[in-house]
Amino acid sequence: MDARGVRKSFGHLEVLTGIDLQVHKGETVVVLGPSGSGKSTLLRCVNLLEKLDGGRILVGGRDVGYDVRRGRLHELAPAEIARRRARIGMVFQQFNLFPHMTALQNIIEGPVGVLGEPREQAVARARGLLARVGLEGRESSYPRQLSGGQQQRVAIARALAMSPELMLFDEPTSALDPELVGEVLATMRQLASEGLTMVVVTHEITFAKEAADRVIFMDGGQIVEQGPPGEVLDSPQNERTKAFLARFL
Ligand code: ADP
Ligand code: MG
Repeated sequence: MDARGVRKSFGHLEVLTGIDLQVHKGETVVVLGPSGSGKSTLLRCVNLLEKLDGGRILVGGRDVGYDVRRGRLHELAPAEIARRRARIGMVFQQFNLFPHMTALQNIIEGPVGVLGEPREQAVARARGLLARVGLEGRESSYPRQLSGGQQQRVAIARALAMSPELMLFDEPTSALDPELVGEVLATMRQLASEGLTMVVVTHEITFAKEAADRVIFMDGGQIVEQGPPGEVLDSPQNERTKAFLARFL
């Protein structure tokens, strides 16, 4: 992913003030920052849930949401936006599973409905994905029969089912009871080690230390500091990063 000069305002409030962020294939980037610093808005821009006011975002070398014709950016048709969005997986704080569908049905919905994958094939892959997130045998469970941690792992499997080039996580453990956080982080750590390209907004500093290739600290709609977790987390240079991290000591 390659974000260049990304700007986003809501009314008079400039929420992203020109973000440059490159994420390499296989890299895991953890985004930290205080509430209101623009972390969710950045992910939502990458995933085309928000329209940019300036700058460009490329995934796999292609513009997200725009087309370059004669050197100018043109908005894409809705169907093309849907196709490009399908290349990016997103996991939210709220798991957003379809309550009337089983775990398996939730996972195959996108591949069959959006990508047109043959059902048999999607089902076989979904079983494999459930095993990959530690939920072998829970194919027929409905969301209400699963714990929050299990539901979030189904949501991760559902995103993976689209074979995304990039996975975005927006505080995926913030809505969970403390005792369920570990199983979701373990799944994410596993995915990171398998070489998935991931951008993770989280306040889980230990996860950042163990799983991130790079840590980004955002404040006031800007990236104010970034680097390897050992540097940013253990010896932050920026005063705002220091103040933020002091809360976790
Ligand atoms: P974070 O995820 O870092 O907490 P957000 O990206 O959610 O921050 O929000 C950044 C700022 O943008 C906040 O001041 C928030 O109130 C504002 N904001 C976010 N979404 C909207 C929206 N749809 N309309 C108006 N303001 C918004
Ligand atoms: Mg947020």
